Amino acid sequence: MAAVQPMVGSAEGGVVSVAAPSAVFVGLGANLGDREATLRSALQAMAQLPGTRVERVSPLYGSAPVDAGGPDYLNAVAALATTLTPQALLQALQAIEQSAGRERPYRNAPRTLDLDILWFGDQVIHTPTLTVPHPRMAERAFVLRPLADLVPERVDAACLQAVASQGIYLLAGTGWAEGVAGDCF
Ligand code: AMP
Repeated sequence: MAAVQPMVGSAEGGVVSVAAPSAVFVGLGANLGDREATLRSALQAMAQLPGTRVERVSPLYGSAPVDAGGPDYLNAVAALATTLTPQALLQALQAIEQSAGRERPYRNAPRTLDLDILWFGDQVIHTPTLTVPHPRMAERAFVLRPLADLVPERVDAACLQAVASQGIYLLAGTGWAEGVAGDCF
């Protein structure tokens, strides 16, 4: 029989945390305001979530907006270990987006901060609010390139090749996020 993981409930009664951490990859993007400062703040905020550790952060990239206007995006991917459930992490990431001043006036609008759950362990999730693996990640060079920097063995070369024509440029090595990765629980 499979082991049952101890779970922690929220004040509202939902399960928000389990005992064993999951390896999670989060895509970060910003194309308004002080974009690099916003991404750094978002990483700090993720590192302070309960039961969550920012393990590694990719280099920083710039990319032209896809299907949208506005300034170029700054993009990166963070590898987390978290005991939060997928839904609890999604809510926490949305709260971080909100605190960065994000508004959602229309689809693909320029945004101060966008946080997407790319992979959550090996879970496949289809709920009205959460789809994992992220449904559009394979179409986006600004996701696949930094993801390949972190876990090259998990990003198929043919997928990278398929998005190679998208405008994306390296801005900084992993040092841009120094001081965030490896923070303690
Ligand atoms: P976006 O405008 O790209 O930030 O999309 C946000 C919406 O996508 C929210 O309503 C989320 O509930 C939903 N969503 C579905 N799957 C994911 C995911 N893997 N990561 C983040 N948001 C997701």
